[in-house]
Amino acid sequence: MIIIQLKPGKDQSLLRFHPWVFSGAIKKIDGKPTEGELVEVISNEGRFLGIGHYQVGSITIRMVSFEKVNVDYPFWKNKLFQAYLLRKKLNLAENNQNNVYRLVHGEGDGLPGLIIDIYNTTAVIQSHSVGMYLTRDHFTRALKEIYGQNLTAIYDKSEATIPFKANTGAKNGYLWGDNEPGTILEYGNKFHIDWVEGQKTGFFIDQRENRKLVETYSRDRTVLNVFGYTGGFSVYALRGGAKLVHSVDSSERAIDLTNQNVDLNFTEPNHESFAVDAFEYLNNIDDKYDLIILDPPAFAKHQDALRNALQAYKRINTRAFSKIKPGGILFTFSCSQIVNKDQFRQAVFSAAAIAKRNVRILHQLTQPADHPINIYHPEGEYLKGLVLYIE
Ligand code: SAH
Repeated sequence: MIIIQLKPGKDQSLLRFHPWVFSGAIKKIDGKPTEGELVEVISNEGRFLGIGHYQVGSITIRMVSFEKVNVDYPFWKNKLFQAYLLRKKLNLAENNQNNVYRLVHGEGDGLPGLIIDIYNTTAVIQSHSVGMYLTRDHFTRALKEIYGQNLTAIYDKSEATIPFKANTGAKNGYLWGDNEPGTILEYGNKFHIDWVEGQKTGFFIDQRENRKLVETYSRDRTVLNVFGYTGGFSVYALRGGAKLVHSVDSSERAIDLTNQNVDLNFTEPNHESFAVDAFEYLNNIDDKYDLIILDPPAFAKHQDALRNALQAYKRINTRAFSKIKPGGILFTFSCSQIVNKDQFRQAVFSAAAIAKRNVRILHQLTQPADHPINIYHPEGEYLKGLVLYIE
């Protein structure tokens, strides 16, 4: 294995088990590693620190072990098996009311750069690093061994998520089997999932528990689900006995999916959907809604977009605060990793002040347990939500 030596003092974050090595921390590379290759990392003094995947870029090494181990098939299989055991403990795997969950959540499962989502008997692998992409044959074999008959296909969706400069030639497609996109169950609710055409791996699995909470607040309420995508929140609001549910998304395709999912679950739902821009829609409503959900896309993906993103959060929330009925409830979210909890709160609180509403926090929400946060990698906490009571 090629050895990479760090500059003096740059071993500190690895000694605290942070899983990334930035390019600026590197003193010397003993050889010419190719992208995705496993390398050994040592301190300036020559002390062994761990093993990781090398990749050209600001994060140059993603650590897969802090111990001197053989990174071979049994190593990877054990990592996936541990992830599976955790999902079983969480009552997500082998649960007849739920067959969708995240099996591997990158750094949160000690596997930086790797996402694996389970949709009933299909696994969708999404690599965010070259090293994980190059390990896909091991993952395929391990998934088949762990799941046995409970798995019938594995789809790789890494084409858009691994750095395109790495020239891996990655194409989306089945690594094994060829299941048609199908229907899954979440808390007994049915959803049609299209992992081939859909956003992310097909579904926003990370909102499961927050959707369930919407259900408990929906009875007899008039609900507006903004940025609805596949209509997850809308289905739960209807399940919870909402008087009326409106779904808004700018994408026609998302609205089709929403209608399809609502129809999968209810025969005569009080539901309507609109393929329009959320900002415009919120401008043109009067105070008819008493529960509003705002789950926008990550407004900022890079640090330099932070200011604009905070402005966008402020704008959209101001509109919701201005329009919501007195006694209304707002579920508001941010899934931008670079917007931290405090910044998001500040944006939301300024919005409330601009709209001159009296607001109280009822719940502070985050991502669910199958998206665990490695405490040594706090950047992994990306989903933030507030449930607010508005007088
Ligand atoms: N709440 C969803 C996930 C939302 S993803 C769930 O639980 O599954 C964000 C959605 O916002 C996408 O479907 C995207 O099409 C939509 N979107 C992005 N910009 C928008 C805009 N300006 N107006 C309305 N919808 C928008």
